[in-house]
Amino acid sequence: MAAGQWRNWAGTAIANPLRWHRPNDPGQIAEAITSAERDGYTVRAVGSGHSFTPIAVAEQVAIDLSGWSGIIAAETRSGLVTVRSGTTLRALNAGLATLGLALENLGDIDAQTIAGAISTGTHGTGARLGGLATQIEALELVLADGSTVSCSATERPEVFNAARVGLGALGVISTVTLRCVPAFVLSAQEGPEPLEQVLDGFEQQADANDHFEFYWFPYGRKALVKRNNRVPAGTAPQPLSALRQYVEYEIMENRMFELLCRLGRAVPPLVRPLNQLSSSVLSPRSYSDHSHRVFVTSRTVRFVESEYAIPREALGEVLGELRRQVPRLADPVMFPVEVRVAAADDIWLSTANGRDSAYLAIHQYVGMPYRSYFDLFESIVGAVGGRPHWGKMHSLDDERLRERYPRFDDFRRVRAEVDPAGRFDNAYLRKVLGPRT
Ligand SMILES: Cc1cc2nc3c(=O)[nH]c(=O)nc-3n(C[C@H](O)[C@H](O)[C@H](O)COP(=O)(O)OP(=O)(O)OC[C@H]3O[C@@H](n4cnc5c(N)ncnc54)[C@H](O)[C@@H]3O)c2cc1C
Repeated sequence: MAAGQWRNWAGTAIANPLRWHRPNDPGQIAEAITSAERDGYTVRAVGSGHSFTPIAVAEQVAIDLSGWSGIIAAETRSGLVTVRSGTTLRALNAGLATLGLALENLGDIDAQTIAGAISTGTHGTGARLGGLATQIEALELVLADGSTVSCSATERPEVFNAARVGLGALGVISTVTLRCVPAFVLSAQEGPEPLEQVLDGFEQQADANDHFEFYWFPYGRKALVKRNNRVPAGTAPQPLSALRQYVEYEIMENRMFELLCRLGRAVPPLVRPLNQLSSSVLSPRSYSDHSHRVFVTSRTVRFVESEYAIPREALGEVLGELRRQVPRLADPVMFPVEVRVAAADDIWLSTANGRDSAYLAIHQYVGMPYRSYFDLFESIVGAVGGRPHWGKMHSLDDERLRERYPRFDDFRRVRAEVDPAGRFDNAYLRKVLGPRT
């Protein structure tokens, strides 16, 4: 209950809530909300703090759900698994593995809580697959008046459509029921390829692979391409040796890259050659492993990030514009651009709502100037109707977002119905959802 400062992973958001609650059951979640109501305070649920935007900032009362974790129920035949909202993806993946199950698709880290991840539209890559929220069968939420509602495609479907990517704006999610799949092994093929070739083959490659993505270092000519595909059931995984994993992931991709970033931050004229070096030393590797071990990577180098979903067919135009303009920026860029894909879905505030999407994520090493780069990026992706990831840095307000989401006002309407007094407000929501009517 004591006050205490909170900051997010990237250090881009800080909160000083007046009090904290760490509930261990839905009754305590309800009590935290109703006591805030009695005192006239706003409330935010806090996940692992891995959003770059101030979306999780609790201005008055914070609810930390780390004590409300674990799998509650699992039906291995149907794959339906109900999980407490504070469960991290790491714990969830481990728990599912013991049941012979897995999530169909994942992003590239596993530190997030399940509720935090779905609430911002967290996604991985795969042209036939959606983000994590598309894998939800049902949700249970504690609302502003302390009551609990269940929702699914057939039970309170409007709340379901809003709450799957709900920005923490409708209530506190207490449980999530996920549609899981039998555990599977992915074969991973990774290696550098000329960027031109990757762009020419992008549409075909995105369709031909279960999970296709690439990283482009802005001053290099090569892209690091990753193709992950399911292998037939029963095939034994052939992971990289522990030594190779240590050398390539921990030493090269984290510690060495961190050193290069520090050098670039201290001596900016070195950034271009260092960036070219980073892209030229990439070596190919192929292995296979249990799906979550292939999806998830270790990320110890801190960065700031913005990511937009654009109509998939606009990727060539957008990347072409970035290639022309990024080299002209006064402040050089240390990190690569990440490109992923996802299938269209029907979730109201999902970045892939109604359209097959390509995701472009841009990053900069912490402590290096990024404003002009991120502004340039937003103007380029904005020209093709780009939609920002709710958990990654962007400058859009409700007026601009309304133009990009056909169901934006439906979301606001459902929110007004379930939280008429704005119990779950914070400054970020006031900006992106606009004033209450
Ligand atoms: C290194 C790194 C890698 C990343 N990789 C990816 C990636 O591959 N793909 C991708 O799409 N994103 C990625 N992200 C972004 C990240 O997945 C999202 O920002 C995600 O929301 C973070 O989850 P969290 O548990 O930290 O939630 P927080 O950031 O703590 O909270 C996010 C939102 O969820 C709400 N929330 C949390 N718990 C609840 C609850 N119980 N009920 C209601 N609302 C709740 C909060 O109020 C807030 O609005 C990455 C971020 C980092 C730092």
